[in-house]
Amino acid sequence: MNKNGVTLWFTGLSGAGKTTISHVVAEVLKSQNRNVEVLDGDIVRLNLTKGLGFSKEDRDENIRRIGFVAQLLTRNGVIVVVSAISPYREIREEVRGKIGNFVEVFVNAPLEVCEDRDVKGLYAKARSGEIKQFTGISDPYEPPVNPEVECRTDLETLEESVAKVMNKLEVLGYLS
Ligand code: ADP
Repeated sequence: MNKNGVTLWFTGLSGAGKTTISHVVAEVLKSQNRNVEVLDGDIVRLNLTKGLGFSKEDRDENIRRIGFVAQLLTRNGVIVVVSAISPYREIREEVRGKIGNFVEVFVNAPLEVCEDRDVKGLYAKARSGEIKQFTGISDPYEPPVNPEVECRTDLETLEESVAKVMNKLEVLGYLS
């Protein structure tokens, strides 16, 4: 298999740090003249998967569509940076199987830390009941069993998290 393309899949709770880490990783890769495309869950839901909700069925469909685009890009040598809560293990594994060159990054911080950060004010709304089916509060999150990388964003700096991801890409031969 062509080792140039790869999908870097960032999964984790809202506020765990997926967007923050993935954007820095994307910038580093671009500075190394790699073709990079970012698929951010929040943005994808405004176009590619517009209209989908947050039931398990709709969440799985959201991930399946992101996975399909990631697959097309990956096989053409692009480094695809996906940042999506993607709470269900089975669909992540399905996408992994289809794409092949797949590096799962578990962006992990305890729920209390994510809630305390409340970057977008969503946890407060989830607690008050204004938002239903909110991952971690009123909807499940199934952590990866064997992620290629785990970033503990409550314990490490952004730079350390980015370095872990870059190092894994190097070790797996995607940067050569
Ligand atoms: P997500 O995309 O997972 O919802 P965001 O990246 O939007 O999360 O928000 C994560 C928040 O956590 C940001 O405000 C970021 O500055 C903060 N943060 C603190 N430490 C880290 C770290 N080590 N890695 C990434 N983000 C961190």
